[in-house]
Amino acid sequence: MSKSSTLIESAQRHLYGNYKQAPIVFARGSGVEVFDVDGKRYLDFAAGVAVSVVGHAHPILVAAIAEQAQRQIHVSNYFYNDRNIELAEELCRRTGYDRAFFCNSGAEANEALIKLARHHFYGRGDKARQRVIAFHNAFHGRTMGALSMTGTPKYREGFGEMGPVTHVAYGDLDAVKAAMGADVCAVIVEPVQGEGGVNMAPAGFISGLRALCDANGSLLLVDEVQTGIGRLGRFLGHDGCGARADAIALAKGLGGGVPIGAMLTTEALANALPPGTHGSTFGGNPLACAASLAVLRIIDDEKLVLGAKNRGEKLHGLLTRLAADLPLVCEGARGDGLLRGLVLRQGMIARDVLGKLQQAGVLLTAAGERVIRFSPPLIVTDAQLDEGVALVRAVLATMSPSAQSNANMPCQVQSPQGQRT
Ligand SMILES: *Cc1c(COP(=O)(O)O)cnc(C)c1O
Repeated sequence: MSKSSTLIESAQRHLYGNYKQAPIVFARGSGVEVFDVDGKRYLDFAAGVAVSVVGHAHPILVAAIAEQAQRQIHVSNYFYNDRNIELAEELCRRTGYDRAFFCNSGAEANEALIKLARHHFYGRGDKARQRVIAFHNAFHGRTMGALSMTGTPKYREGFGEMGPVTHVAYGDLDAVKAAMGADVCAVIVEPVQGEGGVNMAPAGFISGLRALCDANGSLLLVDEVQTGIGRLGRFLGHDGCGARADAIALAKGLGGGVPIGAMLTTEALANALPPGTHGSTFGGNPLACAASLAVLRIIDDEKLVLGAKNRGEKLHGLLTRLAADLPLVCEGARGDGLLRGLVLRQGMIARDVLGKLQQAGVLLTAAGERVIRFSPPLIVTDAQLDEGVALVRAVLATMSPSAQSNANMPCQVQSPQGQRT
C-alpha cells in the first residue's frame, strides 16, 4: 500500500467529514511545486486558494518564522508585542489606512467589518442602522456573521436566522440604490468575486457604491481577502478604482500560509469598537505577524506586485488562446492579475475536471459552477505558466461537453465547494 492510501484510510475514519478532499496527501513544497507523501510532483496553480503568495518554503519566510518561534510565539492582547505594532505600521503605510485590527482568517476579518459598521452607528445612537447590503455570489466566509453576507443561498441553508442582510446583483448600482435605506449601516463588496466565479466588477462599480454609501450615510466595506496583497497586480484590489473603502478585510495571502487576518480602517472609525467590544486570543500574535512582515518584504524585494500584473497578462493570453482552440469545452477567460478564470461551456462542472488536472500534475480550484480558477503563487515564472497551461490544455482536449454532462447526470445539484453531499 502507498503511504497516501494508508493515510487516507485513517483520514476517512478520524477527520470530520465537512470537506470532500481530493485523494492526495501533501507532504512538502518548494516554490511553485508541491509533492505528495509518495513523492509525486504537482505544479501548484491554486496556492492553497490564493494564500501561498511567495510560494512554498520561501527561505526568507522560513527563516523569519523560525527566528520568531525562537523568540516568542504568543503573547495575547493583554499586552503589546513588537511584531504586531511593526505590522500595523507597515500595513497602514502601504495602504493609507490608519488603524489595523488583527485576527486569524478571512471570515474573522469580515466579522470585524460587520461589527465595526453596526457598532459605529450604535455608538452614535443610530441603533436602527444594522442592515448590510451584500451581493449575489459573494463569498465572505463561513462563520455566522460572515455567512449572513455570503451570497450563495446553498451555503446559508440550514443554519437558521441570519442578521439583516439584503443581497442584490453584483455590478448593479440601481439594485443597490433601490435596496438602500436609513437602516443600512454598510455595503460590503469584493473587487473581483473570487469564490463566486472570478466575476469582474464593471468599471465604475466600486466608485458608484462609494457615492451611494455617502449619499445614504452608510459605510463602504471592501472584502480584500482574496484580491489583496498584490493578487490583482496592485497591492489592494480596489486600488486605482477612484474610491476608498471605510474599512477592508485582509487574510489569505497576508501571512503567506501562516494564518492571519486583518481589518484596516480609517481614523474616523477608530473608536467604533472600544475596549471590550471585540477581540481575539490569537489575533496579532508575534509569529503570524513576523511571517506577514517577511511576506511584505519578499513582495517588495522580488517586485511581486508588478510581477502579478505581468505574469497575469501572460496567463490571460495563454488562457484566451486555449479557450479559442477548444471552443467546445471553453467559453473564454476572465480575471485580473494572477486571479484568472477559465470559463467552461454551459453544462460543464469545473469541480469535476479538477481530479483529471490533478492526475496530470497541476493543482487548480473551481470558482462558481463552471470556472476553473488560477491563483498561482505570485512568484510563478513564465515557464511555469507555460508548463501548467499546457497540462490543462492536454486534459481539456480529451473532453467533450456531452461526455461531461453524462458524467454529471446523477448529480443535478452541484455540491458546494468543500461540503459533502
Ligand atoms: C476565502 C475568503 C474568505 C474567507 O476566508 P477564511 O480564511 O476561509 O475564513 C472571505 N472573503 C473572501 C473574498 C474570500 O476569498
